[in-house]
Order: sequence, then C-alpha cells, then structure tokens
Amino acid sequence: MSDCLFCKIIAGEIPSDKVYEDENVFAFRDIHPQAPVHILVVPKTHIACAADITADNSAEVARCFEAIAKIAAQEGLNDGFRVINNCGENAGQTVFHLHFHILAGKTLGETLV
Ligand code: 5GP
Ligand code: ZN
Repeated sequence: MSDCLFCKIIAGEIPSDKVYEDENVFAFRDIHPQAPVHILVVPKTHIACAADITADNSAEVARCFEAIAKIAAQEGLNDGFRVINNCGENAGQTVFHLHFHILAGKTLGETLV
C-alpha cells in the first residue's frame, strides 16, 4: 500500500531501527517506547488489522509469532515479555498495518492482561 507508514518502513523508504528481518517479517523498535524494550513485529504483506485475518493470510500471523520467538532469544528477553495487538478505534490502533508490540525489560504488571 503506497500510503501505508509500515509498508514504507518495510521498503526502507522511511528509516527505522531494525532488529529482525526475514522473507516474510520485519521488526523494528517503536519510535515512542512504552517499556525499556518495545519492538513492533509486522508481516511484509499488508493486512490492515486483526479483523482482516482469514484462512488465506493467517500464515503471516504464524510467521510473525515464529519471528517473535527468535527476537525474544536474540534480545535476551529471558525474564519474559508481553505481546499486544491493537485492532480498531476502541483499542487505539493508529497504524493500520497489522503489527504486534513486544514489550519487555521491566515488570509489566497484571492489569490489561
Ligand atoms: P498502534 O497504536 O497502532 O497499535 O501502534 C502503532 C505504533 O507505531 C505506536 O506505538 C507508535 O509509537 C509507533 N510508530 C508510529 N510511527 C512510527 C514511526 O515512524 N517509526 C516507528 N519506529 N514507530 C512508529
Ligand atoms: Zn502496510
């Protein structure tokens, strides 16, 4: 999608602090981190949000979670981490390209799951 921020980051048209890339997945540090470690994991295929996942594109989600496990090992997140996805207005989604937040590096508490 030509007007999608994360598609532009994946294409290298907008710089990012990349932490992981493979054929299907791109991951980079959030520009406004909400924890000591805050990484965004995105499928290279443009999917707007979790409500658009179907049998035809769900493999992209599996690939994201395979990447999340690799990133957790790479970044040494041995004390644990949280994975969050926001979908739609009430969840506060601001970038409409499916992404998973990895939050780590401090005790995250037991509120908001
Ligand atoms: P959402 O609120 O849609 O779940 O998350 C979007 C995230 O993208 C936010 O945490 C925001 O800080 C991050 N973000 C927005 N623009 C940029 C950018 O240009 N670069 C990076 N690295 N992160 C961004
Ligand atoms: Zn996109």
